[in-house]
Amino acid sequence: MEELEAFRRETRTWLEENCPDSERQPALPDDQYWGGRDAAFPSEGARVWFERMRDKHWIAPEWPSAYGGGGLSPEQAHVLKQELKRIRARPPLCSLGLWMLGPALLEFGSEEQKLEHLPSIVRGEIRWCQGYSEPGSGSDLASVQTRAEDRGDHFLVNGSKIWTTGADKADCIFCLVRTDPGAKKQEGISFLLIDMASDGVSATPIELISGESEFCQTFFDDVLVPKSNLVGEINKGWSIAKALLVHERKLIAEMGTESPRKQITPTAAAREYLPFSDGRIADAHLRAALVDYEMLLQAIALTHMRCYEEKSTGTQSAAPLIMKYVGTELEKAKSELLLAIMGSKGLGWEGEGFSQIELDTLRIWAFSKTLTIAGGTSEIQLNVLAKRVLGLPQS
Ligand SMILES: Cc1cc2nc3c(=O)[nH]c(=O)nc-3n(C[C@H](O)[C@H](O)[C@H](O)COP(=O)(O)OP(=O)(O)OC[C@H]3O[C@@H](n4cnc5c(N)ncnc54)[C@H](O)[C@@H]3O)c2cc1C
Repeated sequence: MEELEAFRRETRTWLEENCPDSERQPALPDDQYWGGRDAAFPSEGARVWFERMRDKHWIAPEWPSAYGGGGLSPEQAHVLKQELKRIRARPPLCSLGLWMLGPALLEFGSEEQKLEHLPSIVRGEIRWCQGYSEPGSGSDLASVQTRAEDRGDHFLVNGSKIWTTGADKADCIFCLVRTDPGAKKQEGISFLLIDMASDGVSATPIELISGESEFCQTFFDDVLVPKSNLVGEINKGWSIAKALLVHERKLIAEMGTESPRKQITPTAAAREYLPFSDGRIADAHLRAALVDYEMLLQAIALTHMRCYEEKSTGTQSAAPLIMKYVGTELEKAKSELLLAIMGSKGLGWEGEGFSQIELDTLRIWAFSKTLTIAGGTSEIQLNVLAKRVLGLPQS
């Protein structure tokens, strides 16, 4: 315990000295650094912060040092996370390699694959994207149809993926591919790494209602992929896919409760936008809605703490399984509540007459909807809970 407190003191001092002021505030999409072969830093502050954290080996604090990680214990990594949060530090590197592929490679990759891919992820040299969903396979992910045929020393890949976030900017993609079309659907899937620069790979951006375009449809036309890019055993990719989804859902759950995009809290908005009477919010309905929200927020924060304590003591409950559902639904509810509190001031999309916070509110409201879809929809999370936790019969 004393050692951990000493680590906290050292960490706090180091962060105070090394995290630039510009990196101690919410990062909007344009402020984020995603790395990659052609990456440019969004600002000088972002460059300094990334390079200092990289040189300190704190980009992936818990990964073994042999693969470029910091080799911290889970307890130390938790302290570091708390201290970063305390100063509202931006993530030095946003990366699907770091958040999703890396943990899966640590569990399922060969030694060669770990040595090849993990250090380049930590150094921000390679940007990864995720090729899971297909036009006909989203919630029913095990029905993926993208084919990888065994051609001796390589696979020949044909098919298409959809909703591939950042595919037009990524260097590589981790994919679920069908390697045995005759087998039961979960048993004919493999997990394959593909270089986006390979002949036959293309990515077409999909424009969203906001005018932005974070997703692509990704096409594979006779793409040759070396056999060494297969992770785990052939036709055993479903286990890797599920393990990776656990990391993805944890990440998305945290985006719901710890998002740096949070601009204004409902309580702060209530103080600014709502009329008060006798020291209380005058509108009884909004007053009750705000209390409900604050109580849920507290309950989720405590459950996060419980999950962390269970992890460090080696006990296991069903609590982590509910976090994606409750965290993202709460984020959605928060955005609805903010719009109700701000009234017409929350409806501005552009133009004069609105503050930046007001303009951001509607964008965050739109973004909050995506959290309950990405990484498995809320309905699918409820199905999983019904089956795995409550043991209810399947319909
Ligand atoms: C912001 C964002 C980023 C994403 N990034 C990526 C990415 O990088 N890579 C990637 O591969 N995918 C990505 N996705 C895709 C995401 O994984 C899918 O959208 C998601 O799995 C749902 O699949 P779908 O869109 O095909 O919906 P569908 O599966 O067609 O579902 C449509 C509706 O039917 C409901 N439904 C379906 N089956 C059931 C059932 N059995 N019981 C109850 N209800 C059901 C769903 O809940 C949903 O409401 C992203 C999605 C979003 C929103």
